[in-house]
Amino acid sequence: MKLIEGKPIAEAVYAECAKSFAELKAAGHTPGLAVVLVGDDPASRAYVGSKERKCRELGMHSVKIEKPATISQEELHEVIESLNADDAIHGILVQLPLPKGLDEDQVILRIDPAKDVDGLHPVNLGKLAMEDPTGFAPCTPSGCQRMLIESGIETTGKNVVIVGRSLLVGKSLALLMMGKGEGANATVTVAHSRTKDLPALTRSADILVAAIGIPKFIGPDHVKEGAVVIDVGINRIDDPSAKNGSRLVGDVDFDAVADQCEAITPVPGGVGRMTIAMLMANTIRACRLKAGL
Ligand code: NAD
Repeated sequence: MKLIEGKPIAEAVYAECAKSFAELKAAGHTPGLAVVLVGDDPASRAYVGSKERKCRELGMHSVKIEKPATISQEELHEVIESLNADDAIHGILVQLPLPKGLDEDQVILRIDPAKDVDGLHPVNLGKLAMEDPTGFAPCTPSGCQRMLIESGIETTGKNVVIVGRSLLVGKSLALLMMGKGEGANATVTVAHSRTKDLPALTRSADILVAAIGIPKFIGPDHVKEGAVVIDVGINRIDDPSAKNGSRLVGDVDFDAVADQCEAITPVPGGVGRMTIAMLMANTIRACRLKAGL
């Protein structure tokens, strides 16, 4: 069994980012990312902190805008519009989920598609469906695809089963992998909560992707001998033996299935590492596109 770790692959993406960043700097451009955090969800705060740190490490301009959960929909739209108008900002990310009562779709619709580095604006989702390379693909699915490419896993003609149909992960990854090009050309099936006899379906997968949000949901009965398993799930579970009483696990029961896999991603240390790397890559590309480089 081969372990597909996120760190070295993310490092390769960061090395490309650093090279591109240097070219931009030499031409007088500094890529800038704005992250909008609404409310005080600790997990969202932690994600935003990691994104800021990575921006600083790469030398990028980074802005964090924090707003209380009581912000009105209109005030939040004004925040987005001022970032759209800010020439120092090339990427805008609104940390999801937003607190209850705020309409995420309406917020995303207001982001300038050229700054939508999370790839969730309908223009970018349309470009993803059309395979138009000027768009931005959502970061977690493009991170999964990059892991497959860098690990030398053939996807052409392979049966890929993705469990989970969210726009953020499952549905977008399906579009990427059924497209043409590297890490694609696959025959993709998307399973979800209404799928009948899930284990029979997932056992048909040469490449199985779990994006469900239920700890250790995928077990030995779901996985064909010799399959490649990509675990997108990040779930915090109680663990009295851990220092802070909890730990992170994926949607796959790693210990139970690892031996029957050709390759598998760990949690933590797998796909999660890729999401921020792809966000940085998208932001640098947004700056390049604006600069005409
Ligand atoms: P979501 O809740 O939006 O979607 C979950 C999907 O799982 C749904 O489409 C649902 O139909 C499906 N599902 C639920 N129960 C099922 C069942 N019993 N059988 C089959 N399908 C079932 O979640 P999401 O945003 O797509 O995230 C999925 C997981 O990935 C979560 O654990 C999340 O934390 C993680 N995630 C990780 C990253 C990362 O950077 N690694 C990024 C985004 C999400």
